[in-house]
Amino acid sequence: MSDRLTEVSRYFIPPDLKQAKRRGKEEVQVLQFEAIPEDMREIGRGKHYLIKTYGCQMNVHDSETIAGILQSMGYSPTDREEDADVILLNTCAVRENAEDKVFGELGRLKPLKVERPGLILGVCGCMSQEEAVIRRILQQHQYVDLIFGTHNIHRLPFLLKEALFSKEMVVEVWSKEGDIVENLPKARQDGLKAWVNIMYGCDKFCTYCIVPYTRGKERSRRPEDVLAEVRELARKGYREVTLLGQNVNAYGKDFTDRTYTFAHLLDDVRKIGIPRVRFTTSHPRDFDDHLIEVLAKGGNLVEHIHLPVQSGSSEVLKRMARKYNREQYLELVRKIREAIPHVSLTTDIIVGFPGETEEQFEETLSLVREVEYDSAFTFIYSPREGTPAARMEDNVPYEVKKERLLRLNRVQDEISRRKNEALRGQVVEVLVEGESKKNPEILSGRTRTNKLVNFRGPKSLIGQFVQVRISEPLTYTLKGEWVETESVAGAGM
Ligand code: SF4
Repeated sequence: MSDRLTEVSRYFIPPDLKQAKRRGKEEVQVLQFEAIPEDMREIGRGKHYLIKTYGCQMNVHDSETIAGILQSMGYSPTDREEDADVILLNTCAVRENAEDKVFGELGRLKPLKVERPGLILGVCGCMSQEEAVIRRILQQHQYVDLIFGTHNIHRLPFLLKEALFSKEMVVEVWSKEGDIVENLPKARQDGLKAWVNIMYGCDKFCTYCIVPYTRGKERSRRPEDVLAEVRELARKGYREVTLLGQNVNAYGKDFTDRTYTFAHLLDDVRKIGIPRVRFTTSHPRDFDDHLIEVLAKGGNLVEHIHLPVQSGSSEVLKRMARKYNREQYLELVRKIREAIPHVSLTTDIIVGFPGETEEQFEETLSLVREVEYDSAFTFIYSPREGTPAARMEDNVPYEVKKERLLRLNRVQDEISRRKNEALRGQVVEVLVEGESKKNPEILSGRTRTNKLVNFRGPKSLIGQFVQVRISEPLTYTLKGEWVETESVAGAGM
């Protein structure tokens, strides 16, 4: 091990995958975020931070919390690395290329750190919960100052102070089942759309996935805390809220003092009246009839469900430990479509899972044709160290995986284009988010079904709900013409 390990900081707590795998009977502690100690409140005055976020929405939202904590310590945000006094990489462990990117980024930032030794360079997020990653940083990237885990975000003021005043690398990664910390400050990036965690962790242990190890066990925030946060967002004028969890459908299963499920929560959030309410991500296994019934109420519960299928083959699903088969998934889709006829379904699919045969892959193609998703996130399987699938024989050659991905994308693109084409000439409601990234003359926004729409209109429309006639449907986006503005009156519209 490195020299740096011989002079470890008193905060040296590295991750332990075995411990992270445990699911005991310990009760979930609901902790309150402690006020920033007085001697740290001004520590960042006149200084800047930059957070680079990789991976899922959960990480994006964690970055908002980290930013909130840093701002409570006096730091201001910057986009320029050369102005930053603290640079944090909030990492993702789900895909190998996300890991490669982070290590590439650390290498790229090394000269900056050498030039400005006072810069604090830190790594957090799911990757920091992995033993192999920490080993690699300790051995090859000793100039990193700070590593903290997904359970340690609330400890950032103390860890940052230690990193600022000690010479050692500060590593604190608790590999625990997890607590819930309330009242964390948040610096939300967007004044229109907000994310709200409703639960943390995952107990599903799909065989390819590292999340149950990096984010702890499934634990739900108390409904009163979630509802108070959503009410506050409504008061501040937010137009859209997305309820977040690795598996939102398992919400409430861990409550011992009440029967209160995701369907109950969604019904209560709906009544608060934020114009659009979304949620992500759903596990098909826990998607129950009560939830379908609540979603069918419509109004501010938008008709878009992201329902990851991963494979169309029951055999592969079994090896993935998804705990549903093809028929059960299709039955769920049938029930959802019956209750919500205009629903837009999107999904995640992995191709080339260990042992996937040509026939099994074709079952995925046929399922995609049958369900007709509006869009799909498609991936080539890559093993994550420490997961059961990583120990399976990965006998599908990479060339075959690539070819399957191309075939799958061709099928899905054709469906996406056809579905978008059906919108030609129709008028849709768009929440205008801002200027298009490619052309500031064009405005961009999303439909209720989360499709991106580009159109011309005055900047004053930003933040409003407007009506747009779709004039040019493309495969991934829609072009349209602004028809008229119309405010949406909250729930029940
Ligand atoms: S449900 Fe499966 S894929 Fe999703 S986070 Fe949990 S283990 Fe990972």
